[in-house]
Amino acid sequence: MSTLTHGKVVRLSDRLCRITAPNPGLMTGAGTNTYIVGDNEIAIVDPGPVESSHIDAILNSVGDRIKWVVVTHTHLDHSPAAVPIAKATGAQMVGMPPADDLFQDKTFKPDWAMQHDDVIVADDFHLRAIHTPGHVSNHLCFLLEEEGTLLAGDHIMNGSTVVIVPPSGDMKAYIESLQRLEAIRYSILVLRMAS
Ligand SMILES: [Zn+2]
Repeated sequence: MSTLTHGKVVRLSDRLCRITAPNPGLMTGAGTNTYIVGDNEIAIVDPGPVESSHIDAILNSVGDRIKWVVVTHTHLDHSPAAVPIAKATGAQMVGMPPADDLFQDKTFKPDWAMQHDDVIVADDFHLRAIHTPGHVSNHLCFLLEEEGTLLAGDHIMNGSTVVIVPPSGDMKAYIESLQRLEAIRYSILVLRMAS
C-alpha cells in the first residue's frame, strides 16, 4: 500500500490534481482517488465516499469553481459524495445511472446520463467518456484529451487485479474494454507522431 496523504491536494500535471479519501482498505488501497480536472471550470472525478473531511477538503480547495461532479461508476467507494458536492456547488452530476447489482450507490441520479464518446468541454480541457464495462456494466473511463491521460476508475488498478463480480461484472466485456482502450492509445500515438 502506498503512502498517499489523505485530504491533501497533490498536483499531477497542468490540468490535474488528486485528493485521496480517508477510506483505506482491502478494496480501496490507500483510499479512493478523487481527481480535480481543470482550473477555472472544474470537473471532480470520483468524489468518493460521504466523509466530511474529504468533502471539506474538496470544497475548500476548489468549491467555488466546480461545474461537474463526474463518476466512473457507482460503487460505494466512488460516487456517494456526488450528491453533497453537487448540492453545495450547484454542479451538474455526470455519469451513467447505477447498475443493476448489490453494491450500488442508488443516491446517484445523473443530470447528464453519459453515453460512450460524450465529451465534457471546459475552457481549458476536454474530458471524453469511454464506456468500459467489465468491472461493472456502468463503468466509464475518462480521457483528458489535452494531456493524453486516462482516468481509469476501477478498470485498471495499480498493483492489483480488478474484481469482476457477475452479473453486472463480466469478464468478456472486461477484455473487450481493455482492447477498446488499447485501440484509443494507438490512435493517440499516431496523432502525436503526425502532429
Ligand atoms: Zn468499483
